[in-house]
Amino acid sequence: MARLVLWDVDGTLIHTNGIGSEVFDRAFVQVLGLAPTARITQRVRLSGKTDPQIALEYLELMEIEDPAHHLPLVLELLAVELAAAAETLAANGGSLPGVPELLARLAGADGVHQTLLTGNLAANAAVKVAAFGLDQWLDLEIGAYGSDHADRCELVPIAIERARRLRGVELAPEDTWVIGDTERDFACAQAGRAHCLLVATGGSRVSDLAHLEPDLLLEDLSDTDAVFKILTS
Ligand SMILES: [Mg+2]
Repeated sequence: MARLVLWDVDGTLIHTNGIGSEVFDRAFVQVLGLAPTARITQRVRLSGKTDPQIALEYLELMEIEDPAHHLPLVLELLAVELAAAAETLAANGGSLPGVPELLARLAGADGVHQTLLTGNLAANAAVKVAAFGLDQWLDLEIGAYGSDHADRCELVPIAIERARRLRGVELAPEDTWVIGDTERDFACAQAGRAHCLLVATGGSRVSDLAHLEPDLLLEDLSDTDAVFKILTS
């Protein structure tokens, strides 16, 4: 059996206690000399979006001329600011219920490759999972990130291709699970023809996500036995 398990980060593996959005503010102050107003921050919902997508939305709502021109520097400083906030993140955020246990079990299972599929830039995703010691169970090199494509729906094939090229494993979409906490994770699984597990540990409740009819929908990952069996069956 071969399996590729693709984990979303924010709201699925970890919570950042708002530090994720604070570093966006700091990056904008560095580049533009001003932070987005509270009204703009409320309008840009971060969940499930890629970092380039979020940054562009901010720049457009801030009515910055030629937003695409500023994007590379905003993203570069976003990475700088998150790296600088790593200790604060470790002290104030946390991994979500069942996550370390489940990652450890999957890492020890034959034929399972697990990595990240996230809107975070690759560097930021690495900082976030390392802050809670989760990186030890993840093969980050074969992951797919916001730095690979601004459209999350393009990311499943990127991870499958990296697993083939870097680990020599041939995985089909039907061997693949996308695990996330928003309808954007679901849309990305659909686009990649992968299975989808949604958890209600991010902003959305089970009742918000039920209409999507993912393969599996859970309050959280605390029943690690049951989730492990389903992901590896
Ligand atoms: Mg998420």
